[in-house]
This record gives sequence, structure tokens and C-alpha cells, in this order.
Amino acid sequence: MHISHSFVQEGACLWICATPIGNLQDVSLRLLDTLRQADVVLAEDTRQTRKLLSRYDIHPPVLVSYHEHNGESKREQLRGWWQEGLRIALVSDAGLPLISDPGEDAVQLALSLDVPVIPIPGPNAALSALVASGFAGHSFTFLGFLPRDAKHLKDTLMRYHNFPGALIIYESPHRLNRCLREIATFWPTRPACLAKELTKLNEQFIYGSVTELFEFTSQTSPRGEYVLILSPGSDKSSGIGQGLQSSEEEAESLDENQMGEGLRRVRVAVAAGMPHGQAVRSTAKQLHLRRKDLYQLSLQEKIEGASSP
Ligand code: SAM
Repeated sequence: MHISHSFVQEGACLWICATPIGNLQDVSLRLLDTLRQADVVLAEDTRQTRKLLSRYDIHPPVLVSYHEHNGESKREQLRGWWQEGLRIALVSDAGLPLISDPGEDAVQLALSLDVPVIPIPGPNAALSALVASGFAGHSFTFLGFLPRDAKHLKDTLMRYHNFPGALIIYESPHRLNRCLREIATFWPTRPACLAKELTKLNEQFIYGSVTELFEFTSQTSPRGEYVLILSPGSDKSSGIGQGLQSSEEEAESLDENQMGEGLRRVRVAVAAGMPHGQAVRSTAKQLHLRRKDLYQLSLQEKIEGASSP
């Protein structure tokens, strides 16, 4: 066992510094003080960090790059600096280091040498998106970037199928539409929120079902940075599982507007890759439509998709 007191020790330490995720005003007094005191600043990309440092007129004695490809080769240098009692600040390009960013090796090395690891809290895209999404309930899970490979992605989504909290997902703009398409095949009606360009002039929150967000990103080519929040699941109104269930619930009403909405949803789900029969079943269930009627009408509209029921 080992206890590390952040505020009573002097000398070697590793500060894990959160930096702005776009808006350079999002700095704390403590962050600025820390960067001014640091003997060494380890930066994911020194060009990016220089923008922040020069904005606040901070000139660390040493500013060096530290990223996923050179972390291993920096170990001996870090060890030597800490033996000399130097205070090292770790920053990433944006937000909290280690959160889908480099830094894990440095933390492990510091801990193995009994060097205090001290967080300097601040901006983080995941939590900023979560609190504005309306889904920040009792619990949530941070998934970071989803696997790219279809099978691993499917396994990940299945693993969280019954998770009752919100899910937080990072995605790059050029993969966002494909990611939403994959998620829509599992949870087409699950409420979700896309947080775009947090803290920047173009900040937006787009609220809708996963299918609606898929449609939205199909129509507009996404640019900038995005966090996707999926609503907590488990209750029936969440829409979770509707893309997965095969049980049939026959509907009573054949209301025209509902049928129009049903056809629209089937069209979108099929475009998102869901088999036609499954899209009909899950839509009929969601909207309490008669499955056979929706099926016939969708055939007349030639919404056929990958396979028949
Ligand atoms: N360490 C960072 C943090 O604490 O949020 C995350 C770094 S990760 C490499 C980059 C991803 O975070 C982006 O692809 C995006 O999903 C998300 N992100 C970062 N800044 C963002 C912003 N201003 N608005 C929306 N998402 C952002």
C-alpha cells in the first residue's frame, strides 16, 4: 500500500493537465499556475500546445513531444528527470490526457517510481456532451472510439444492449455517418444526442433518434468534432432492442399518418442496412401498426432492402 499526498510533497511529480477542447478561454487559474511552475511540459503535439502557452505567455524551460508512438522511448528520459526532482506537466491536444489520448505509460511509470500523479481537472468532451444531452442520469459508460471492424463493433453494441445508463461515444467526422448507420441497425429509435464542436463558435446539439441522426448526417457531410450520447436503455420508451427483437405484436390502428410515418421509418432502417422484414416488424411494433399492412404498403413502395421476412 502507498499513499500519495498531492499538496504536501515537493519535488518530482507528474501533473495531468486538462486543456481547452476548442475554446482557449476554458482554462483554470490552477492550470496556468501549474504550466508556469512546470520544469518540463510533455505535449501530444508541441505545435498545438504552443498555441495555448503563447496565448497565456507561458514559457516552460522544456517543451517536448509525448505521444503514442514515442512514449516507450521517453521512459528513460522521464525516469532521469524525476530522479533529478523535476516537475512534469502532461498535456494532450485537447481535454484530459489519457481519455482517448496518450499518457497511460507516463502515469504507470510515475506510480512505479512513487512519483505523485496529480490531476489538474478541466475540459473534457465526453462529460461536457453528457451533461447537455439530457441523459446524464444515474450512470453512464464511456466507450470512446468504437471498434472499426464490423464484428467487434457488433460485439461491443451487444455487450451494452442491456446497460441501463447512457453511452458516450467519440467519433471522427468522416466515420460518423457509418457509425450511426451501424448503431441504427441495433437501436433505430433509441433517443440520442450529437454534440458538435463543443465550446467553439459552431457548437450545436442535435437531438433525435439514432435513425434521425443517421438521416441528418447522411444529408449534411459532418465536419468538426463530435461526441455521440445514447440515452440510457431498459425501459420500453427508450426504443432499445426494437431493432433486435423478433417478437411480433400485431397492431390495431391503420391510421394514415401513422402508416406514412411507418413507411418513412422502414425506408430509413432499410437504408441503414436493416433487413426489410426486420424493419417492418420493429416499426409496426413501435407505432402499433398492423404488420401485414405495413409490409404490403412498403412492398408497393418498393422498399425491399437486403432480405425478405
Ligand atoms: N482527451 C479528450 C477529452 O478529454 O475529451 C478527447 C481526445 S480524443 C483523441 C478526440 C475526440 O474527442 C474527438 O474525435 C471527438 O469525438 C471528441 N472531441 C474533442 N474535442 C471535441 C469538441 N470540441 N467537440 C466535440 N467533440 C470533441
